[in-house]
Amino acid sequence: MVLPVLLLCPTGKDAHLIASVLQHDRVNTQTTLTINELCEVDYDNAGAIIVAEESLTKEGLAIFNEKLSSQKGWSDIPIILLSSGSGSGRNQQFKLKDLEAFVTNGNVTLLERPLRPLTLSSATQVALRARRRQFQVQSLLQSQLKATKIRDEFISIAGHELKTPLTSLKLQTQMTRRQIVRPEIFVKDKMYKQLDYTIHQIDRLNKLVDDMLDISRISDGKLTLIRTKVNLSLLLHELIERFTPQFEAVGINVKTDIQEEVIGIWDSYKLEQVVNNLFSNAIRYSPNEALSIGLYTCGDKAIFNVKDEGMGIEAHNLERIFERFERVSSVTSGLGLGLYITRQILDLHQANIRAESEMGKGSNFIIELPL
Ligand code: ADP
Repeated sequence: MVLPVLLLCPTGKDAHLIASVLQHDRVNTQTTLTINELCEVDYDNAGAIIVAEESLTKEGLAIFNEKLSSQKGWSDIPIILLSSGSGSGRNQQFKLKDLEAFVTNGNVTLLERPLRPLTLSSATQVALRARRRQFQVQSLLQSQLKATKIRDEFISIAGHELKTPLTSLKLQTQMTRRQIVRPEIFVKDKMYKQLDYTIHQIDRLNKLVDDMLDISRISDGKLTLIRTKVNLSLLLHELIERFTPQFEAVGINVKTDIQEEVIGIWDSYKLEQVVNNLFSNAIRYSPNEALSIGLYTCGDKAIFNVKDEGMGIEAHNLERIFERFERVSSVTSGLGLGLYITRQILDLHQANIRAESEMGKGSNFIIELPL
């Protein structure tokens, strides 16, 4: 990080001398001739300030103090004050106690003149090092604040998403209980339906909790693969069969074009998660439409795609949806984690996923998976 040093010297000659000493250490300088000029600079982009004592007046010192105290909480710019020396002829335009207060209360190093170039250069390096630390702490602080904000938002979304199935689970269970204690209202088919719905809600809760656990595994770098020989064609047929009741329930008509015996060395459970995520997105974002599922090999890759004819995704969101916590449609009912986890799993397989979409016409999720 290259941070310029601000100079306040009443004469251009002194400024030039200081600048040439610092230039030797590859330090950039910016000269100002008055305190007002110095106070107009944005200290957020500066490394240190070198002030010649004779540039200060009582009023100037007050303006400077005010500017210094208006710095942001993390910022305390180092100041090197070049004293006029203890000799006579000092132009004391301020009370000495004002200067003392400035030196003791501020982040000020006082260097007596006459000065060896090495003294100036080493004091400047120490000041710049301290300043760089301030910037590092600040950027760490900012990223922590951002992470805390994301986490808080996530907790609130997760709480909401967990609450919804819990509320309907409680309702279903109360209805089931009422039917058991009052045989006159017991209808076997109705009870079956209620229990199916209960199972569906439990599945939903399970998926939410699994996603949350995966996210913490991903953050800890603990998401790993257990690779075995997997027949993806068979796995897909199995998953389509398992999802058929849910597809039917929302009016999705499935068309398949699956090449048989597409076999690779993959993590079967994790690929199942990938397919689950794409299928459950189709259920949520593309009900009552056709869904095409394709699988074939091309060279040393398996190409798998899930294409719906639903609401579609705006072009500028096509990359964003694979980021953590990103939910881009108003009818969403998830944590914005499914596609993020999907991409992480595929990354571990050295595979890639992309989405193509047209608003109102549908979305196609295409995966290229090395065999
Ligand atoms: P979520 O669990 O919130 O759906 P995902 O990571 O699975 O999280 O998806 C991220 C966002 O991408 C969703 O909130 C939704 O806005 C959009 N999305 C995902 N799949 C589709 C799809 N098939 N059609 C339209 N939008 C989709």
